[in-house]
Amino acid sequence: MESKIWLSSPHMGGGEMRYIQEAFDHNWVAPLGKNVDEFEIAIEDFLQENKFAAALSSGTAALHLALIQLGVGYGDEVICQSFTFSASANPIKYLGATPVFVDSDKTNWNMSPEFLEIAIQDRIQNHKKPKAVIVVHLYGMPAMMDEILEICTKYEIPLIEDSAESIGSTYKGQKCGTFGAFSVLSFNGNKIITTSGGGALICGTWEQKAKTIFLSTQARDQAPHYQHSEVGYNYRLSNISAGIGRGQMEVLEERVKLRRANHDFYKEIFANIEAVNIFTEASSDFFSNHWLTSITLDKNITAKTNHDLMASFAEKNIETRPLWKPMHLQPVFKDCPYYGENVAEELFDQGLCLPSGSNLKDEDKKRILDVIINFQF
Ligand SMILES: *Cc1c(COP(=O)(O)O)cnc(C)c1O
Repeated sequence: MESKIWLSSPHMGGGEMRYIQEAFDHNWVAPLGKNVDEFEIAIEDFLQENKFAAALSSGTAALHLALIQLGVGYGDEVICQSFTFSASANPIKYLGATPVFVDSDKTNWNMSPEFLEIAIQDRIQNHKKPKAVIVVHLYGMPAMMDEILEICTKYEIPLIEDSAESIGSTYKGQKCGTFGAFSVLSFNGNKIITTSGGGALICGTWEQKAKTIFLSTQARDQAPHYQHSEVGYNYRLSNISAGIGRGQMEVLEERVKLRRANHDFYKEIFANIEAVNIFTEASSDFFSNHWLTSITLDKNITAKTNHDLMASFAEKNIETRPLWKPMHLQPVFKDCPYYGENVAEELFDQGLCLPSGSNLKDEDKKRILDVIINFQF
């Protein structure tokens, strides 16, 4: 069997071990230390826009702390894009609140502004005003931010940006991760850069960052003994992981270039295959890091399914993955309200994510190309 080609695997830059060694040399083997501070500074410098980054143990933790700081609690409602990974919605449940799911735009794949507004109006009229909106930039593609921000402003509902898959993407030249009242980054192992596991909450003010760090380190009051006036969490990033993050930030721009080059590779192949649509930017307003290049098979042209194609790749030891199964179709969220049609559902039925790691080699691409060429679409 030939070696496995992964969908998206960690790709170290070379500088990581030096920072880890430094942490060992100074015995800062803890959820605090120089790597954590420097990693946050590197993120802030990268994002610009005067944002403040708090490094956390995961993107999921970051989302949880964002919701807490927006006052989400028991019985509240939070609007969330349905077409996403479950971690976008789970923290709503942690707080005893209810996710209200919204369908995607056909071209952009992220939250439909049209259904967002319908959902907000209906919840306000018939129930209660949602406490927050969670928009996702899926597979690196920026959501339709002008339209979504306009609606959130109009109804005065804070926006949380789930940028877990989109560090390095921009919308109208502004970096994803800087649009929300809070924004979430993830450095999980399969993401565009990784700390082996980790995340960050991007805040608009220094006070919010301080509050995030306070909550993530067990909410200790200022006192010589252990005193607590609030429920705390153990969500801070370790100084070892942050060392990996520092090294990864140094190569982030390069990683984005490589992912985008993979995308161009696929674009060229599928340009001549009528049965396949590749998911790409609708206009120059959108700049995707192309974390995962994704395609859909056109039912009107081919009887083959995404699962057939997935099986052909698997035969050659090449990993691919169906698109995210929408949250409103997940058993765990079956009782949650949903606004939309069947856009996300059809994407799930017809789509596939292709190997997109920044560490794909030319020989890997050749093997991938062979599978596509030999597949009778
Ligand atoms: C990965 C991911 C998360 C969660 O990040 P973790 O760091 O794995 O907790 C949240 N939302 C989306 C869209 C993701 O892809």
